[in-house]
Amino acid sequence: MAVLMVAGLLVATACSGEADVTTERADPVSTPVSTPVSTPVSTAADEILDVPATTPAPGSTSAEVPTISDGRGTQSTDTGLADRLFPGLGAPAVDVVSYLVKLDVDVAAGSFDAVVDVVADVDTAVRQMALDAAGFTVDSVQIDGDDAPFEQPGDELIIELPADSDRRVTATITYSAAPDEAFSAVGLPAGWFQTDGGSYVLNEPDGARRWLPSNDHPSDKATWRFEITVPDGITVSANGDLVQDGQLGEPWIWQMSQEMPTYLVHLVIGPYDVVDGGSLTSVDGDNINLTHVVPAGEQAKFQRFIDETPKQFDFFEERFGPYPLDDYGLAFVDSTPGLAMETQGRSLFSQLDFQVSGFGDDETQINFLQQLLLAHELAHQWFGNAVSPATWSDIWLNESFATYAQFLWLDEIGLVDLDSEMSELLLARQTGDVATGMPTLKSMFGFESYDGGSVVVHALRLKVGDEAFFELLAEWIGSNTGTSQTSAAFISLAQDLTGADLGEFFDAWLYAARLPAEFPQG
Ligand SMILES: [Zn+2]
Repeated sequence: MAVLMVAGLLVATACSGEADVTTERADPVSTPVSTPVSTPVSTAADEILDVPATTPAPGSTSAEVPTISDGRGTQSTDTGLADRLFPGLGAPAVDVVSYLVKLDVDVAAGSFDAVVDVVADVDTAVRQMALDAAGFTVDSVQIDGDDAPFEQPGDELIIELPADSDRRVTATITYSAAPDEAFSAVGLPAGWFQTDGGSYVLNEPDGARRWLPSNDHPSDKATWRFEITVPDGITVSANGDLVQDGQLGEPWIWQMSQEMPTYLVHLVIGPYDVVDGGSLTSVDGDNINLTHVVPAGEQAKFQRFIDETPKQFDFFEERFGPYPLDDYGLAFVDSTPGLAMETQGRSLFSQLDFQVSGFGDDETQINFLQQLLLAHELAHQWFGNAVSPATWSDIWLNESFATYAQFLWLDEIGLVDLDSEMSELLLARQTGDVATGMPTLKSMFGFESYDGGSVVVHALRLKVGDEAFFELLAEWIGSNTGTSQTSAAFISLAQDLTGADLGEFFDAWLYAARLPAEFPQG
């Protein structure tokens, strides 16, 4: 995500453009705040859990946001994946195949009744199915149609499986919730956000469990179907293809057939128009469907941003290989300014960041921040969405690459000079205490992952040369789409493709807090 001010993840990305210098949460867009390029927003090396629960995130609209746990959970480790940053998230014995999310939403009240089917493969040696669930009470659970006992200790939903259940089970979970955003341990709000006349979700890194019982970890990808009932006149946007327009009490149905982890769920409800943007043809000949979401009746105001997508699409395809998903679109919604999120196949932007009045720009132009956000979230469809991080410590595979891609685009259109930008950022990496490849909760959406991490990617490019570098990126996506991968896997592929021992390089650039003073000479 991009966090200018920060949103889903607030990242302080200092962009030294002519005008706006903003901190960015790569998917949470943050408001343009003047942050000196040389001042990393994140303070490093803090104790992982030493994040004051009440720390107001930049751009937070409420001082009353409740605090949720740190993700470690309260149960034994068999209910968590032992993720270094969020040990309690996910479950080692559960591999979700698909989610069917059926919500009947009372938009005015900000609440819903839910029936969620989670189809999962569960290790038959483990007679329980653990899901992440926080802040709501489950009414009933059925396994393959029969009532099943369950508990909700801490932030977990533990379902007891029948002794004779097959490896693949369908858990049907019925509950009601009135969710809201809560501060994640990273210091940013995540979860379900109420807006005027609607809502949106921003799940990264651990917000999905605030409203959806799920295996809330990026390592577990599944297919998704959303059946969302709202009052007539209200629009629902979710990931994937629009199967059915909701009207006269019928649900809006969206289907995401390409596997996706929980943090990339897109669910926006409110007074919006769904815009059929036609399609683009990928370099490999595939049709990529474009579906956008704009404030009702305001498509004309957002058309120039929509029109920018094909140019960025072509630019990135030339460098990263064929667009790896089936669809794309831009969603301009009533969300926190300064925050943007690469929700899979349809990126989430704050409509306020794309209104001329907010920046005093010529209304025919697209300003620096807008170009940055549009490029950053599109690039994530390759880096983070097609290939997702196996653990949250691998977040640089998302953010450092999307940030580097964003700078490539800004250089292409003349808003930055790439070499100058990288030199300036390298200077900023001469101090600091956090390595890009070993983030803390505070840094994972901070400078070392974003602008400071793009330096690592640039150094790799200089080390191996342009041909090998872009071949590596295309191969990384081409051979791993649909999976979640580790930093070690990336390093291994880099070494395989180049035939070089890159151990010293990654130790010095990815796993050191303070980087070499000079870029590699190749
Ligand atoms: Zn991002």
